[in-house]
Amino acid sequence: MAAYDIVALSAFSDNYIWTLRDATHAVVVDPGEAQPVLDFLAREGLQLAAILNTHHHADHVGGNAPLLERFPVPVFGPRDERIPETTHPLAGGQRFRLPHFGIEFEVLDIPAHTRSHIAFLGDGLLFCGDTLFAAGCGRLFEGTPAQMHASLARFAALPANTRVWCAHEYTESNLRWAAALLPADDPLAPAVRERLAQVRAVRDACGFTIPTTIGQELATNLFLRAGSPEELARLRRHKESWRG
Ligand SMILES: [Zn+2]
Repeated sequence: MAAYDIVALSAFSDNYIWTLRDATHAVVVDPGEAQPVLDFLAREGLQLAAILNTHHHADHVGGNAPLLERFPVPVFGPRDERIPETTHPLAGGQRFRLPHFGIEFEVLDIPAHTRSHIAFLGDGLLFCGDTLFAAGCGRLFEGTPAQMHASLARFAALPANTRVWCAHEYTESNLRWAAALLPADDPLAPAVRERLAQVRAVRDACGFTIPTTIGQELATNLFLRAGSPEELARLRRHKESWRG
């Protein structure tokens, strides 16, 4: 397996298009728009090797069609007719090798944000779309709290050093919410406050707070700690009504 880097391409106001690249090729995860990808490929002189999609929302797949016009590459995504460009429909437990890079990915079924949402796990990397965020989790558009609880439990069981590449920059707002909610004597409170200070410094310098790690999330993510689907549902309701 060749050496590669992972580059963040920004899209819309707070989306990340995670891009694996080596000297000649790139693979993009959830290209919500094509132009940032096309600009990057042209600037760096790279060929596109594949597209990965975690779920069908437009801010994750909107760039598929225009990218395919220029680069007719395989598209790996969930079994869902709402992503018509998919060439390799996948379900949980399936494995595949990333074209050109050779990384073997395992597919995880993680319904909740959408009913067919998947994640890609391989080489110590987790691309989890809109399911797990740094210090947060995705909204329940098509699934239940029990499904989100089960999906997050799968992530919590991964090695602590697994690097987590979620699709949005929500970290500071998530941590401000958590810091406001947690009583001062909660065991997580010191780690949440410390991480909030670090994240503020990164954002003030216009940096990215992703990737995070499973270990960091276990120490600071209230949704990963939720002991039951009911507790997770309470946290989600609180988060959605919170104006901090
Ligand atoms: Zn989404």
